[in-house]
Amino acid sequence: MSSPPRQEILPQNDNAASLFLPDEAATLALGGALAAALTQGPADLVVYLEGDLGAGKTTLVRGLLRELGYAGKVKSPTYTLVELYTISRLNLYHFDFYRFERPEEYLDAGLDEYFQGSGVCLVEWPDKAGAYLPLADLRVRLFLADAGRSVALLADSEKGRACLTSLNFRPDGTRAATSSSSPPPA
Ligand code: ADP
Ligand code: MG
Repeated sequence: MSSPPRQEILPQNDNAASLFLPDEAATLALGGALAAALTQGPADLVVYLEGDLGAGKTTLVRGLLRELGYAGKVKSPTYTLVELYTISRLNLYHFDFYRFERPEEYLDAGLDEYFQGSGVCLVEWPDKAGAYLPLADLRVRLFLADAGRSVALLADSEKGRACLTSLNFRPDGTRAATSSSSPPPA
C-alpha cells in the first residue's frame, strides 16, 4: 500500500469538515460518498443543501442518487417542490423551496408530513421555509470558488455527526479504503 491519501475529508472536528471541489465530478463524488454514509447510518436524516443558484446543490443530489443505483434524470424539483426516490431500504425526498414567497407555503403544501416519517430529506433552499422546517441533522454549504466550489459540511445532531464521521471521500472521486468498522471512539 502506498502512503495514505492526503486529501480525504478529515473533519476539523466531529461537527465540521470542509473541502474544495475543483469540478462537477468532485461534487458528484461527494454526493456518492454521502450516499454510502447514508446506507450505513439511520434511514432518516434531514440534510439542508445551502448555497446560491448554480452552487451545485442538485449536482450533489444527482451524485448521491447515482451511487445508490438510480439511472434516471435528476432535476431540481423547483415546480413540484418534492421528488421521491425509493431505493433499496431508503426513501429519499428531494425538496426545492426556491419559489416560496412566504414560509407558510411550506405548510400550505402539506410538506410537513414528509418530515414525520422515516426518510432522508434533502432540502434545497431550506431558509425559504423559515422556522416551519424541522432542523437539519447535516448542513451542506456550497460556495462558488474560482472555477470550482468549496463546501462546508456541518453536523447539527448526533445522527449528523455519525454521518459526517463515516464520510469517506477524496476529491479525485476515489474513496479511501472502506472500513465497515466503527469510527474511533471520541
Ligand atoms: P444548484 O442546484 O445549486 O442551483 P446545480 O447543481 O444545478 O446548482 O449546478 C449548477 C452548475 O454547477 C452545473 O452546471 C454543474 O455542472 C456545476 N458544478 C457543480 N459542481 C461544480 C464544481 N465543483 N465545479 C464546477 N462546476 C460545478
Ligand atoms: Mg438546484
